[in-house]
Amino acid sequence: SLPPLAELVGSDLVSPLVTGGAVRYVNLDLAASAPALRAVVDRVTEFLPYCSSVHRGSGYASMVSTSAYETSRRVIAAFVGARPDDVVQVVRNTTDAFNLLAAVVPGEVVHLDLEHHANLLPWQARGARGVEARETLEETLSALELELLAAPAALLAVTGASNVTGELLPVQRLAALAHRHGARIAVDAAQWAPHRRIDVAGLGVDYLALSGHKLYAPYGAGVLVGRRDWLDAAAPHLLGGGAVREVSLGGVTWAAAPARHEAGTPNVVGAVALAAACEVIGSLPDGALERHEGLLRERLVAGLDAVAGVRRLELWPGEAEAIGVVTFGVDGHSAEAVAHYLSAEWGIGVRDGRFCAHPLLQRLNGGRTAVRASLGLGSSSEDVDRLVEALRHLVDHGPTAAYGSDHLPDPD
Ligand code: PMP
Repeated sequence: SLPPLAELVGSDLVSPLVTGGAVRYVNLDLAASAPALRAVVDRVTEFLPYCSSVHRGSGYASMVSTSAYETSRRVIAAFVGARPDDVVQVVRNTTDAFNLLAAVVPGEVVHLDLEHHANLLPWQARGARGVEARETLEETLSALELELLAAPAALLAVTGASNVTGELLPVQRLAALAHRHGARIAVDAAQWAPHRRIDVAGLGVDYLALSGHKLYAPYGAGVLVGRRDWLDAAAPHLLGGGAVREVSLGGVTWAAAPARHEAGTPNVVGAVALAAACEVIGSLPDGALERHEGLLRERLVAGLDAVAGVRRLELWPGEAEAIGVVTFGVDGHSAEAVAHYLSAEWGIGVRDGRFCAHPLLQRLNGGRTAVRASLGLGSSSEDVDRLVEALRHLVDHGPTAAYGSDHLPDPD
């Protein structure tokens, strides 16, 4: 049922922009960054007075800080179903995770063109082999297989869920495909983790990256979870204190991962917050997330498809399951104008642009910008209905401020 999930989220914002007065702000931009869960706010508030030296220092607060940091790694590892010997590197975000991974991969990389730039540019910079997604999912898998057959690769990098269309990729099949050809697989879970239960070990994922700020924790902390050998063999991500075993004026012996790649005082608060979010989401009843967002997505898709001139962008219509992320254009209106209208006249926050996925927008929308609505824990059917109603009004009447107030939904 919808309300219990919504109640987990601690924000209750009011939009000041709406013509004719404030209404409850409808946040349909959760795929970009999501507000912190109440439990995350509570955990961080509880922890902050204990901030002290991490991994050093024998004082009580120092022990609390070290323990909070290392416990967070274990909680995050359990949340994604990591293998016991996997490393959990605390990084800034998914972008940071892939930049780290790109620096440790000991060979060639194959990736798709549908990726967020975070999972594309670090590979492109090292001359990776980019494969165009095809008309169908099956043809896309075959194209990847051919690429891996053509020449060996060390890594296949793919997303778990598209940040543009919301479509899910068949991660288990992709992992098996990579492994068949002697490659490992890295999965971008920035969008996947907030919407589906992840089982790194069970699915055969070798590396997984995610961002806390999309998982109802604050900005600034994410993780790269995965196999130890490449991380231990590579040069450290940053050079400095904490990443070493022994330093002399003549040289240095580096520590093993994760310390090896975490020089400097780490983001303990970020890790604690991310772990708190993982605990809440990980303890939702089986299937609750999927049901909640599945129903809302269906309602949104049906609503959008019933508005003349609204065109949804999809990679493989009818083939792939999807999370609550839907991107569309409105004939005759720029994406920027639509997004502005939704915010100013209806108090609805969406995202417009090319979503850091330029090659995909080139293919699906001729390079033009589009509008993205994304759902999450706090979303309700009223939110979806308000968006659909707003778009219907836009198509029927156009965006005029004067038109606003008597058509607005009642503030609640
Ligand atoms: N991958 C995907 C699929 C994303 O949606 C995003 C965020 N838009 C990223 C990677 C990058 O995440 P971050 O900005 O937290 O590094």
